[in-house]
Amino acid sequence: MRGKRIKGKTAAICSIVLIIAFCISIKNCPKTVSIKQAPEIKLYLSRENCTINLPLEDYIKGTVAAEMPANFALEALKAQAVCARTYTLKKILDEKKYPKGADVSDDIYSCQAYISSAEFKHRNPQNYKILWDKITKAVQATSGQIMIYNGEPIDALYHSTCGGRTESAANAWGQDIPYLRSVSCNYCQESKYYQSCQVFSKQDLEEFESLELGNTISLSISERSSTGRVKKLKINNLFVSGEKFRQILNLPSTNWEFSSAQGKLIVNSRGYGHGVGLCQYGANGMARAGADYRSILKHYYCHFDFCQLQWETNK
Ligand SMILES: [Zn+2]
Repeated sequence: MRGKRIKGKTAAICSIVLIIAFCISIKNCPKTVSIKQAPEIKLYLSRENCTINLPLEDYIKGTVAAEMPANFALEALKAQAVCARTYTLKKILDEKKYPKGADVSDDIYSCQAYISSAEFKHRNPQNYKILWDKITKAVQATSGQIMIYNGEPIDALYHSTCGGRTESAANAWGQDIPYLRSVSCNYCQESKYYQSCQVFSKQDLEEFESLELGNTISLSISERSSTGRVKKLKINNLFVSGEKFRQILNLPSTNWEFSSAQGKLIVNSRGYGHGVGLCQYGANGMARAGADYRSILKHYYCHFDFCQLQWETNK
C-alpha cells in the first residue's frame, strides 16, 4: 500500500485496510468489496481522555447524531452517513494518529464529532426515540457505502452552509483535488448562516497584533478567490489573510462584504464553515426538494464512484 506499513490496528481494521489496499492495486475498482467481519473502530474521546472500541456502523450513528441536526430530511442524513463513513476510512488508510493509538477522535478540529446515544438522549429528551430511530435508519440504509476516487476513499469534507457556492480545495488550501471542486448550491437558504451580520467596535480589533487603530477603520479587500471568498485583506496598516481574520473575529466564513457606520465595522458574511465538499443545509434543501442521497452526494462531490463494503451482517 504505497510503501506504508500497517501496524497497531485491530484485526478487523486490518482486514478492511487490506481489502481496500487490494482494491487500490487493481485498475478498475470493484463496486462491491467483501469483508469477513464487520469492522471495529478505536475512538478517542477527548473530554474523557480515553478510548472506546465500537463497531464502525455504531460509530457512524454517533457522528451523524453529532454532525447534522436530526430533524433534517432522511435523505440528507443518509448523505451525511456516507460522508462520515468515507471520511473515517480515509483517516484509517492515511494512518492518521490520534491519542492513545486511536483510529479516530471526537475532536472536531482534527477529526469529526461523535456523541453516544446516551448523550443524544440527554440533548433531545422530548423526541429522542423518533430522532434516534431516524438516524439509525439513515445509517442502516447506507450500511457499508463509501465514495471512492481512483480506488481510494475520498476526503469527504463537509461544512454547515456554503452560502450559494461551495469552495474548491484548490482555492481553500492550494491543492487541486478533482472531487473537491466548487459547485453552485441553491439549497441552503434556510440556514441562519446563509447570510449573517456581525458588528465590531474598535476595541474588538485590538486582538490584531501590530494594528494601528486611529480615528477611523479603513478596510479593503486585496484578493478574493474565484468563488468570492476573501483570501487577503488590508485593515488600516495591516495585511492579513482571510482565514486569520476569520479566526480572530470568530466569523462564520471568509465570504464577506464590509461596510462601516458610527465608527464600527460591519461584516456581512455568507455561509458557515470552510465551504469545501458537502453543504449540509444544502443537502437538506435538496432532500426536501425530492433528491435522494446519491444525487445529493453526486452534486457536491465530482468524479467519484460509490463502493459497497459488504460483511456478513449487512449482506
Ligand atoms: Zn449551500
